[in-house]
Formats: sequence, C-alpha cells, structure tokens
Amino acid sequence: MTPFTFPSLSFEFFPPSSEAGTQSLWSGLRRVEALSPSFVSVTYGAGGSSRDNTIDLSRRIATETSLRPVAHLTAVDHSVTELRHIIGRYADAGVQDILALRGDPPGNPRGPWNRHAEGITYAHELVALIKELGEFSVGVAAFPERHPRSSDWDSDIRHLVAKCRAGADYAITQMFFHVDDYLRLRDRVAAAGCDTPIVPQIMPALDVRQISRFAQLSNAVFPDELAGRLEAARDNPAESHRIGVAYATDMAARLLKEGAPGLHYVTLNRVSAALEIHHNVGSPAQAPAASPALAATP
Ligand code: FAD
Repeated sequence: MTPFTFPSLSFEFFPPSSEAGTQSLWSGLRRVEALSPSFVSVTYGAGGSSRDNTIDLSRRIATETSLRPVAHLTAVDHSVTELRHIIGRYADAGVQDILALRGDPPGNPRGPWNRHAEGITYAHELVALIKELGEFSVGVAAFPERHPRSSDWDSDIRHLVAKCRAGADYAITQMFFHVDDYLRLRDRVAAAGCDTPIVPQIMPALDVRQISRFAQLSNAVFPDELAGRLEAARDNPAESHRIGVAYATDMAARLLKEGAPGLHYVTLNRVSAALEIHHNVGSPAQAPAASPALAATP
C-alpha cells in the first residue's frame, strides 16, 4: 500500500460505547471528511468487545466515507495466530493501513508487561508480521519525552529506528507540550541515519483534569503554566477551550515552520477544537518550508 503523502493531515477517533457517543463520532467524521485529510485513525481498546468495535468502525469508515482509515492494533493479550487473524479481518474490512503498537498492560499501563505465551514482545515484531501478511502501510509510535519504560535515550532511539527498519512507513508521536522535545527526538532519529517521517500529535488541552491524567499515564510533562491557567478557568468551559486551542495553535504553527511532516490531531470524538486549530494554522501541505531560526516557545 502506498504510504500517505507528507506533510499529512490526520485526526484520531475512538470506537464509542453509547448512542450519544456514536452520534458525536459520526458528526465529527463527516466534518473532517470535508477537509479531505490524509487519514483518520481508530484506536484499539484494552480488551473485549471494544476491539471488535475498532474493526467494525474501520470497516464503516472504509466503505461509507471517502476517508482512509488507519486502524490501530496492539499486541496485548494476543497470540501471533490471533494477530494474524485480526490483520486478515482488517484486510477484509478494506483497511490497508495499520498503526502497530505493543500496547500497555490492561488495568495498569505502568504495571509489568507480560507477553502472551504465544505472542510477541516488541512492536517491531508486529510491524514485521503485518508487512509479511500483506501490502499494508504501517505506522508506529514515537515518544518525544522517551517511552516511559526506556531507561535512556540511546536505547529508546535504537528501538524506534528498529521499528522503522522492520518496515514502518511513518511514526506518530505520543502527546507532548513542548515543541523542543519533538525537535530533539526528530534530530536524534535523523542522526541515527533514519529518515522515516515522524508526525507530531496535537492534543488540545481543554480539560485540566483529563489531560493531567493522560499526561501522567503517557509520561508527558504537562506545563505548570498551562495547567494553572486551565485550572483557573475550570468553571468557564469557553475560556478553557480558548486557552487550550490557543496553546495548541502556537505549537502546531511552530511545528509546521520547523518542517514537521504533518499534524495528527487527537479529537476524543469531538472535533471542534481540532478544526479550530486546523483553521488557525492551515493545511500542513501548504506550510512554508522549514526555517532554521525560530523563536523557542512554546
Ligand atoms: P515498543 O516499540 O515495543 O516499545 C516498548 C518499550 O520497549 C520501549 O521502552 C522500547 O524502547 C523498548 N523496546 C523496544 N524494542 C526493544 C528491544 N528489541 N529490546 C529491548 N527493549 C525494546 N495504546 C492502545 O492500547 N491502543 C491504542 O489505540 C493506542 N494508540 C496509540 C497511538 C499513538 C500515536 C501512540 C504514541 C500511542 C498509542 N497507544 C495506544 C499507547 C501505546 O500502546 C503505548 O504507548 C505503548 O507503551 C507503546 O509501545 P510501542 O508500540 O512503542 O512499543
């Protein structure tokens, strides 16, 4: 499968579990469809029926919209045989793009990682398996503040590069709030001789409690100054929204000026903030070429 054209524009959704959630999701999908993004991605749950929901939603996106679905897949609690079966179901559903992740232990993402007895240990094995099974394009995860389980930068970069060498066509980052963290990661990977595009994730910080929890789980540093301003506006949703959109707009604009190969917006199935930021910064494909000397904030 041909990978996307970079710089890419993409939006992340999750399979909803309620009727109201389904309505919000589909209204959001239709709104981003009007922008003809490079792809929309669908997250993969920690277990049970939510995993089938990823396949079903990806199928509906592939067949009922003009959008290109990237289905996430994790190795958690799956044997290699099961992984092969799911990859086959993705192909049958018309999905040709997969984000290959190891995943985290269910219940406690920071708890001990236990490989399935007949499963795989690291994401690079999943990349190789997907590539072996078909003409998929494959993305992987990258971590501007290092993967929480990595003890040092050298090993973190080595393992990211190994995923690329196993066949990954691009990487999408974990959430982050300081552009310099992304730039350092990008430069380290380039210095290791790897030119795989690393697309930065934009997580609009609209709800201080929710984002603090996400940041804690993913090891991202949530800046005190931003958290303080959102906390002060906690009882004023319009002001929280304005603060979060303004911060993410500044980040996205600087990332594009620095030559980031796209923007991947997390929507949590509510697209308004992502669309405002997109409107503010414009399409990544139209971004001016990278400029060497830029201001150092945020
Ligand atoms: P790996 O690349 O396997 O790395 C895991 C750890 O092992 C790292 O510390 C790495 O340095 C180390 N390592 C790798 N290879 C080796 C080796 N050969 N020897 C020794 N150590 C090694 N989670 C979900 O459950 N569902 C989702 O839909 C989902 N979507 C995500 C989307 C994005 C864009 C991102 C960034 C994350 C997402 N996550 C999701 C979370 C993700 O599953 C976790 O962050 C997980 O810990 C990521 O692992 P990985 O794929 O990077 O694993």
